[in-house]
Amino acid sequence: MKLLRDNNHFVFIGCYGNIIYELISSEQIVTGSTNSRCKFSFAAMKKISSILFVIVFCVSLPHNLFAWGKKGHGIVAEIAFALLDSNTKKAVYKYLELTTIDLGATTIEEASTWMDEVRSDHKYDYMREWHYVNIEKGNQYVETKEGNAINALNNAITALEHRDNLSNEEIKKNLMIIFHLTGDIHMPLHVGYGSDKGGNDIKVKYLSNPTNLHRVWDTEIIESENITANDCLLTYNRFDKDEIAKFKEINIENWIYEPRALLGKVYNFPADGVLDQAYADKNKTIIKQQLLIAGIRLAAVLEKLFQS
Ligand SMILES: [Zn+2]
Repeated sequence: MKLLRDNNHFVFIGCYGNIIYELISSEQIVTGSTNSRCKFSFAAMKKISSILFVIVFCVSLPHNLFAWGKKGHGIVAEIAFALLDSNTKKAVYKYLELTTIDLGATTIEEASTWMDEVRSDHKYDYMREWHYVNIEKGNQYVETKEGNAINALNNAITALEHRDNLSNEEIKKNLMIIFHLTGDIHMPLHVGYGSDKGGNDIKVKYLSNPTNLHRVWDTEIIESENITANDCLLTYNRFDKDEIAKFKEINIENWIYEPRALLGKVYNFPADGVLDQAYADKNKTIIKQQLLIAGIRLAAVLEKLFQS
C-alpha cells in the first residue's frame, strides 16, 4: 500500500510537472529585438504567474485525494489494537510482518485497507462484492451462497480457525480480509440498499462540495470532523459491561442490525441534497460509535483466533 501511495504521489507530481513544462514550452518567448525584450518580460511574467497559480493549486488540493476511506479503516484497526492483549497482538503481527510473494510486510493500517488497494487488480475481481451486503428497504437478510460481506467474513474466520492447512500467505490474506470487512460491515451504507448502490448514486453537497452520500459517510465526515481513534475510544464508557459483552459476540449476521437501524438517520436530509454542518454534528457521534464497535469486534475476532 505504501508503494501504491507513493506511486500515486509520483503520478500526482508527474502530472503537474507536465503541466508546468507545457506552460513553459508552449510559447516562444525568446526574441532578438530590443523592443521585444519588454514583450519577453511581460510574457515571462505572465508565464511565471501561471506557473505559480498551478503550484498554489497543487499544494491546496485535498491531501486525501487518493485516500478515500483509509482513515476510517485505520481507526478501526487502531482501536482493536488498543484493546488487544499482547499475546494476540504478537501473533497477528507475526503474520502481517511476513513478506510473501504477493504481499509485502504490512502495518495494521495497511492490512485494514488492503482489500481496497487491490480493487484495480483483476486477480482479485472475485472479491469485488465482498465489501457490502445489499438488503432492500423493509427486507431482512436472506442467507445466500453469493459473495457478500457476511459470507466473506464468515469464510475468512472459518479458514483461520483451521489455519493448519493454510500457507502463511493465505493466513495473512484472510487476516487482512477480516481487518477490512469488519470495518466495512459497520458502515450503514455497506449494509444498505442495492437500488442506489449503497448511497453511491445519491448526489449531494456536503459542506458546499458536490459528492455522494456514500462518500460523505465513508470519508468526508471523518475528515472534516477530524475524528481519531482516541475520540472513538473516549466513547467506550458510554456502554455498560453487558453491552460490551454483547458487542463481542461473534455473529456476523447479527452485526448488521445496528448499522441497518441507522439508515433512517443517514437518509434524513433535505430534498435538495444539501448536507450542512448540522448534518455532520448530528451524525459524527454515530460514526464514532460505529468505528468503536467495529474495533471492539475486530479485537474479539482476533482474540478468538490467536489468543493462546
Ligand atoms: Zn471495502
